[in-house]
Amino acid sequence: MTFALTAERLFDGHELVDHAVLVIDGEKIASVGTSPPEGMQVIDLGDATLLPGLIDTHQHLVFNGVGTLEEQVTDISDDELADRARENATRALRAGITTIRDLGDRDFVTLHLRDDPELPTILAAGPPITPEGGHCWYLGGSCTGADGLVAAVEERKRRGCDVVKIMVTGGALTPTYPMWKSQFSAAEVKTVVAAAHERGLPVAAHCHGIDGIWDALTAEVDTIEHCTYFTESGMSEPDQRLIAAIAASGIVVSASLGRDTRFQPPPVIAANFSTMVGALGELWRMGGKICIGTDAGIGPGKPHDILPTAAMDLATAGLTPQEILTTLTVSGANAIGLGSRKGRLLPGYDADVLAVDGNPLVDPDALRNVHAVWRHGTLV
Ligand SMILES: [Zn+2]
Repeated sequence: MTFALTAERLFDGHELVDHAVLVIDGEKIASVGTSPPEGMQVIDLGDATLLPGLIDTHQHLVFNGVGTLEEQVTDISDDELADRARENATRALRAGITTIRDLGDRDFVTLHLRDDPELPTILAAGPPITPEGGHCWYLGGSCTGADGLVAAVEERKRRGCDVVKIMVTGGALTPTYPMWKSQFSAAEVKTVVAAAHERGLPVAAHCHGIDGIWDALTAEVDTIEHCTYFTESGMSEPDQRLIAAIAASGIVVSASLGRDTRFQPPPVIAANFSTMVGALGELWRMGGKICIGTDAGIGPGKPHDILPTAAMDLATAGLTPQEILTTLTVSGANAIGLGSRKGRLLPGYDADVLAVDGNPLVDPDALRNVHAVWRHGTLV
């Protein structure tokens, strides 16, 4: 089916075009012009803005935010987890999040959702690689030793995962390892990255501690998740030399922003939140690459449609509305390897379109005024 969408404004990922006409042919964008081809069905959305569908680079579709992370995946079957994941993905899609990178499920259940045309495009990591008893061990990705790590990467390749997730440091929500502490040696991180890259898989590295961030950087991971600069003091202490090194490396920081009013961050995050947002701004000003991965699912206040609220913290970090929109679309797509077909409204790209009422280039909060969403050319 071929049809055209028109609205007061269109943001193609980088530029604003007034009164543009977006022509969709099947699952793809056919053209972006100023007048519709003759005789074509035109849907006029009025005082709205057409944008590329949003990209959340870090979600957990199997989590529902109720209880501890471990409780959320205990005493529940794979089928029930898959149903929950499907529900969460649907909720995201309705908010205009047309692409999700899932960075940690249990039993690889998220992989099966990828063929469902009613869901967003999903990239899946399967269970994160972590040591015995390490952060998120209850997702089933524990392994030890170089051979064990290579075997874990091999298994993910064999099962068809899109990305390898490694828990380089502890996390706030698993008490076994403090979040600043590295769970793997620098050599082990390198082993995982080499094994993954040899097999054509990118690596997303969960890093809270400064030592872990340095190890991830040295090993040349593809994205650094969270990147909160924690030290043994239990505080976030962004290190200027490290921020400069990340910026120079070109490695993307996938920052964990986005929250609603119910969000009760772990006290350690709450106490350091403004420091972390400040460090993100500093990285940005140094030319570092950033995208947003909400970590949706981990708790109340982190539902799977929370991405648009990240705009508020990105503004605090010093990004302009235009830069914020680019971060949530183009940068997200580039970070997860889909930049040639997602994140922009250009001919040949997937017809993933979000229409919002109002003008998010003036007020990014308008991203939450969803008017309509198209996924691969189909109205959601
Ligand atoms: Zn996570």
